[in-house]
Amino acid sequence: MDENPFFENWTTPFGLPPFDRIRPEHFPPAFDRGMTEQLAEIEAIAESTEAPSFANTVEAMERSGRLLGRVSRVFDNLDSSNTNDALEKVARDYAPKLAQHHMRIVLNAALFRRIAELHARRAALELAADQLRLLERHHLDFVRSGALLGPDERARMSAISERLATLHTLFGQNVLHDEKAWQLVLAEDDLAGLPEFIRAAAAQAAKERGLDGRHVITLARSSVEPFLTFSARRDLRQAAYEAWTRRGEHEGPHDNRPLIREILALRAEQARLLGYDTYAAYRLDDTMAKSAAAAGRLLSQVWEPAKRKAAAERGELQALARAEGMNAAIEPWDWRYYAERVRKQKYDIDEAEVKPYFVLDNMVRAAFDTASRLFGVNFVEKTGLPLYHPDVRAYEVRDAAGRHVGLFLHDNFARSGKQSGAWMSSYRDQESFDGDIAPIIVNNNNFAKGEPTLLSFDDAETLFHEFGHGLHGLLSRTRYPSQSGTAVRRDFVEFPSQIFEHWMSAPETLRAYARHSETGQPIPEDLLRRLLAARNFNQGFATVEYTAAALLDLEFHAHPAPETIDAARFEREVMEKIGMPAEIGVRHRPTHFQHLFAGGGYAAGYYAYLWAEVLDADGFAAFLEAGDVFDADLAARLKDIYAAGDTRDPMELYLAFRGRPPRIEALLKDRGLPVG
Ligand SMILES: [Zn+2]
Repeated sequence: MDENPFFENWTTPFGLPPFDRIRPEHFPPAFDRGMTEQLAEIEAIAESTEAPSFANTVEAMERSGRLLGRVSRVFDNLDSSNTNDALEKVARDYAPKLAQHHMRIVLNAALFRRIAELHARRAALELAADQLRLLERHHLDFVRSGALLGPDERARMSAISERLATLHTLFGQNVLHDEKAWQLVLAEDDLAGLPEFIRAAAAQAAKERGLDGRHVITLARSSVEPFLTFSARRDLRQAAYEAWTRRGEHEGPHDNRPLIREILALRAEQARLLGYDTYAAYRLDDTMAKSAAAAGRLLSQVWEPAKRKAAAERGELQALARAEGMNAAIEPWDWRYYAERVRKQKYDIDEAEVKPYFVLDNMVRAAFDTASRLFGVNFVEKTGLPLYHPDVRAYEVRDAAGRHVGLFLHDNFARSGKQSGAWMSSYRDQESFDGDIAPIIVNNNNFAKGEPTLLSFDDAETLFHEFGHGLHGLLSRTRYPSQSGTAVRRDFVEFPSQIFEHWMSAPETLRAYARHSETGQPIPEDLLRRLLAARNFNQGFATVEYTAAALLDLEFHAHPAPETIDAARFEREVMEKIGMPAEIGVRHRPTHFQHLFAGGGYAAGYYAYLWAEVLDADGFAAFLEAGDVFDADLAARLKDIYAAGDTRDPMELYLAFRGRPPRIEALLKDRGLPVG
């Protein structure tokens, strides 16, 4: 039997995981040994007879769990982007064990005594600012995990975390199951209305599913959304929409409804044990927003203007539908279709005319070059590296002096076995306290592959968004790993990603990189003008579908008795209460709202996108005010935010960049919402 690669030093280029040798059966023993090693390290810190110091306690903790971190990162990445039955089984087996392991550390009483003692005399320790924040952060994390509770409550906190880890894993696997289980195979006359790029993507999807020569629509957003936008077949749109919005909501072994109830009840119980009335109150306490009320206030500032704008949009859609002989009321599966036609009529924009100008490779180049101009880093493709899938591309990142900064992996295409959506993650985080360690960052997207792959305007924005997160990981210059890159508060983490989106739609970028896939000609000026003029078209719809989901999230997590919740009925009640327009569907329905239930990261935190948008719209406005979207001084100050990770308070970082607190006006203007 050959060696387990996790137990060796990796001599691969850039220290990449040796993907070609890693097999699912390597993970269980590597997880086991990783946990055992870290527990021994933690025991040694906790039981040390030396008086606690920053070095022998906090820094020693930062140094612990190296093997476990390495295994977990490889596993989490592969299980998200290239999973299979064997990995899914490992995920189910190890999610509760890893949660229990984490709780054994944060509920270790002897360890907490040392941290609490250091924390109590932190002012006298002569720590640097990043060290002080790290100590405060560790102390807070322990307290928020239950370190101040009695033994029975601590045991209960731990048991709940274990169970939640299992439930989160099952929730995500159930969604993936429903996405794999459904496909719409189109016959010749089912293709009505579909432009060439959708037919090509549907042919490619068919090929991957062993249906060569056919056309298949799947429940990946990149497949079903364009279908809903262009298919002239109302019956098929309805069928696809219903399948898409019913993911996770089917009787049987993959039903997410009972999971939601149990997850919410357990979260509420943890919050109560920690002295909070609701899980929302608990979660928001440790954010930039500070309270559910503050997050709710921001959402309600956009909600009514968004609904008014959406109502005006619906009027236009309905009028066009009627003119075309469709006399029924606009339904959720009609909205994208008629919106596209109104857009075409009003702005003379045809998605099929626009799309050839958004070639994936060109837009990737645009993202790289934007990072070069703003932050002085360059991207050089590396071929021949051992990666985990042939679609993944690797780039070495270097600074202006040619020094190695990190490695960037780009995994852009939808495939079965890949979670839906788009995300950034890492195989190794930057740190420097025991010598310089360069980051290995990955971006995942779910674009429909084509020859060449063509993006929509929204896809291109998503590409830039994830790349903004990627830069947050790559440009990190922190000393300690737990402060590295994106390890910031949840409602700040979307700032570096969302502000980067603004450079995608900058005319400078589009003129240079939006080139026709066949002729190589730049996008015609008048098409560019129409495209930018249409930017806030349909923003009523987009704001309503998002804000409703964010409000639903806060309501779920503020419910006083979540064990009684029937997810579908609760969703209906909330939608009624907030006056959700019937013809707009909420962006994520509960049974496939993975932000909330496939993990705890965005639970009571989906508002974070809008929170960060206040910052990114206001922040990008600084560049517009300067009259140069590549203004060097502003870019240097922005780079400081990407470099800082969690070493400083986010509002302090923002103030240092902008010179004043954020204002909401730029967001309202960008979304075309009337300032009230
Ligand atoms: Zn993001």
